[in-house]
Amino acid sequence: MSQAIFSFDNSYARDLEGFYVPWQGDTAPAPRMVRLNRALATELGLDAAALEGEAGARLLSGTLMPAGASPLAQAYAGHQFGGFSPQLGDGRALLIGEILTPDGRRRDIHLKGSGRTPFSRGGDGKATLGPMLREYIIGEAMHALGIPTTRALAVVATGEQVLRDTILPGAVLARVAASHIRVGTFQFFAARSEHERLRQLTAYTMTRHDPDLVAGGAVTGDAVLAFLDRVIGRQADLVARWMLVGFIHGVMNTDNMAVSGETIDYGPCAFMDRYDPRQVFSSIDTHGRYAYGNQPAIAQWNLARFAETLLPLLDASEDAAIEKATTAINAFPARFQTAWLDGMRRKLGLTNAEETDEALATLLFDAMAAGRDGVAADMTGTFRALARFATGEIGTLDEIGLAGDKARDFAVLYTARLSRDVQAPDDRRRAMEAVNPVYVPRNHKVEQALTAAIAGDLQPFERLLEVLAAPFTERPGLEDHAVPAPLEFGPYRTFCGT
Ligand code: AMP
Ligand code: MG
Ligand code: MG
Repeated sequence: MSQAIFSFDNSYARDLEGFYVPWQGDTAPAPRMVRLNRALATELGLDAAALEGEAGARLLSGTLMPAGASPLAQAYAGHQFGGFSPQLGDGRALLIGEILTPDGRRRDIHLKGSGRTPFSRGGDGKATLGPMLREYIIGEAMHALGIPTTRALAVVATGEQVLRDTILPGAVLARVAASHIRVGTFQFFAARSEHERLRQLTAYTMTRHDPDLVAGGAVTGDAVLAFLDRVIGRQADLVARWMLVGFIHGVMNTDNMAVSGETIDYGPCAFMDRYDPRQVFSSIDTHGRYAYGNQPAIAQWNLARFAETLLPLLDASEDAAIEKATTAINAFPARFQTAWLDGMRRKLGLTNAEETDEALATLLFDAMAAGRDGVAADMTGTFRALARFATGEIGTLDEIGLAGDKARDFAVLYTARLSRDVQAPDDRRRAMEAVNPVYVPRNHKVEQALTAAIAGDLQPFERLLEVLAAPFTERPGLEDHAVPAPLEFGPYRTFCGT
C-alpha cells in the first residue's frame, strides 16, 4: 500500500464534537491544479509530487478526501462592522484535518470554496479564481516579510462557472494555518451561554497554542487570564507589523481574528502606496472603520469582545472578573505602541532608544502625508530610500519625495538623532534594508497578474510570487515593482466574499 499523503491527527474533530458539523466538499466537475506551493508542501513534510496534477487537484479541491481526513465545517459567530451575528461559521470552507510538521508544529489543512455547508446562509459556498490567487499572493508576501500568516498550499480551478456580478471561473484555495480558531469561535458559545463548551474550547485552544499555560493539566482562572494576555500580546505584535509595512487588512471582523496571532482571511486587504492614515480599499467599508490608522483601535475592540467571552472562566466574582479582563485589555495600547516603536526604530536604523523617538517617527509620517507637490510619499519606497539619507549618501529628503516644513524639521532632528547612535554606514544600511522591504504586492501588479491568470497566462503571477519571495533583496529589472501605481490606475477598490 502506498504511503498516505497526509498523516492526519485531527484533534479538532476528536476533542471538540459539537463545535462543528462533519461535512463533505462538492465534486468539482474538472479540477485542475493552477498552482501548488511546492516549497510549502516540502516544508510541511508532504510529498509535493503526489500533490501535483489531477490527483492533487482532486484532493485539494475537496472532490476526493485524502485518507485520514475528517472534513468538517467549524461553527463561529462574529461582530461584522460592529454588529453581532450569532451564527456565521464555515459557509464555504472545510477543515479537512491537521498534520504535524517535521518540526513538530500542528497545522490545519483547510479548503475555501469547497461548496455549501449548513453555515452557508444565502451564499453559494463557492470561491472564484482571482480572489483565491490573490490570497495566495498576499499570504506568501506576508510570510516573506516575516509576518505571521496563514499560507496557501494550492489553488485548484474547479471547472465550474460561478455567478457573481459576472460569470467567473470557480476555484478552491487550500490553506494552511496554525489553527482556524477565531475570536468568533469563542463568541459562538458565549452568545449561547454554553459555559461548559466555552471551557472546553478554551482548554483545547490553550493546549494547542499556549501549552505551557496548562502544564499542570488544570485550566484555572489565572491560567485563562494568562491566556487572554498571550492573545492580546500576539495581536499587539501582529497589528504593529501590519502598520510598519502599510498593510490594511480591510475586514477586521471578530470572525477574521485568529487567536493564534496569524493574519487570516485575505479578502479586501491591500498594501498602501501613498501614505494616508485614512486609507481604505474595501468597497463596503464606507465609514472607514477598518482604515489603516484605525487598525490598532479595532484590534483592541475585538480583543475586548474576546475578553468578554472568557469572563465566566476567570474564577472570580463577576465584578472581579471584569476588572481583571479590563486591566488586560487596557494594556493593549501600550503593548502595541512598544511593538510598533521597536519596529520603527529598526526602520529608522536606530539601535538605542530615546524618549523622543515616538515624536520623531510621528514627524516622519506627517512629512510623508504632506509629501511633495501635493502627492503623499510612498510608504514602502520612502522607508527603503531612507537608508540613503541615514548613511549620508544623499543630503536632503527632497529626492526621496519629502519636501516642506515637516520634512525639513524631520531631517534636522533625524540627523541629530543618528549622531547619537553611532554605526558604520554599511552596518546601518544593512540593518535598515533588512527591515524595510523594497518589494510589496503593489495593487496594480497584483491586478495585472490576476487578470492575466484568469485569461490563462500564469506567467505574471509566477513572476510576482518570485519578486515577493525576497522582499528585502533589490534586484535589477524589477524597478516597476518598487514604485506605486501610476496615477491613471486610479483609486483601488477591493471586495469581500468573492
Ligand atoms: P468573510 O467575509 O470571507 O470573512 O466571510 C464571512 C462569512 O460569510 C463566513 O461565515 C463565510 O463562511 C461566509 N461566506 C462568505 N462567502 C460565502 C459564500 N460564497 N457562500 C457561503 N458563505 C459565504
Ligand atoms: Mg472570514
Ligand atoms: Mg473570507
